[in-house]
Amino acid sequence: MPKISIVVPCYNEREALPLFFREIVRTAEEMAPVEFEFLFVDDGSSDGTLSGLRMLAEQDVRVRFLSFSRNFGKEAAMLAGLEAATGDYVATMDADLQDPPSLLPALYHAVTEEGYDCAATRRINRDGEPPVRSFCARMFYKLINHISDADIVDGARDYRLMCRRMVDAVLSLHEYNRFSKGIFGWVGFQTKWVPFVNVERAAGETKWSFWKLFLYSVEGIIAFSTAPLAVASVLGGLLCVVAFLFILVIVFKTLAFGDSVGGWPSMMCVILFLGGIQLFCIGILGQYLAKTYLETKKRPIYLIRETEKGLK
Ligand code: UDP
Ligand code: MG
Repeated sequence: MPKISIVVPCYNEREALPLFFREIVRTAEEMAPVEFEFLFVDDGSSDGTLSGLRMLAEQDVRVRFLSFSRNFGKEAAMLAGLEAATGDYVATMDADLQDPPSLLPALYHAVTEEGYDCAATRRINRDGEPPVRSFCARMFYKLINHISDADIVDGARDYRLMCRRMVDAVLSLHEYNRFSKGIFGWVGFQTKWVPFVNVERAAGETKWSFWKLFLYSVEGIIAFSTAPLAVASVLGGLLCVVAFLFILVIVFKTLAFGDSVGGWPSMMCVILFLGGIQLFCIGILGQYLAKTYLETKKRPIYLIRETEKGLK
């Protein structure tokens, strides 16, 4: 019988965990005789999530868990789960029931019967989210699809079921700065998009502030596009043209009307403007340099402290 590994990153999800587990077990029963492995990744939680996981592992032999030595972020947790998963198919889903387990049979059907390598989910509305956040999210997807060759779908969640082929492809990308939405798009493969209506978190609260999301989107752009690096050249070229026109105007004015000293305010404006552009462009260079620096260190992406078999 084929086996599905369910990878669940958990960061302070003590309240949501039992609710999630009940749902996923129910789905697993519906999908019998398909076998299951529930692989929870505790991302350095401080609220007792780990003891909850230990208990689940005692109750049910299908439960496995990895517990990080500290909080490494959701990307690291998903990677750890994908690396440890032993199933023929691997699904990643959130612990807060925002990725409904009830969709799993449809995803499984798409991958086993309809010839897809992967079935992924996309939420069709963003209800219950501040409008500014939705607007920024839409702009982000427009921008990144424009400037990178990874195909990133608006509203895509990290909830997806992949066949082994695709999981191995994803794991063959060894980058340190991981942006999963981009990685999944970049590896390609046949993906079926399953839309669903957004659901609110079952318990606990979101770990993403606006600022964190903003930084995450910048990471995504830097990881999957080098277009910002061209900004300096483009602006430089434009300014050269402007400067040339300006010179013509000044030469003409001097010849026609004589030299009149003045124009200190306009000079200040130009200096400040150019200074700003230069610092902005150096900032972009700095971002890429910083990422390159982190990549070259080749630090592990996560550290495991404990698994269902005990301390590591
Ligand atoms: N998560 C994680 N590490 C983190 C932040 C979040 O493993 O540093 C997990 C979290 O437990 C949840 C999933 O990632 O299962 C999505 O997080 P959340 O629900 O807070 O994000 P949202 O759904 O609001 O985008
Ligand atoms: Mg959530």
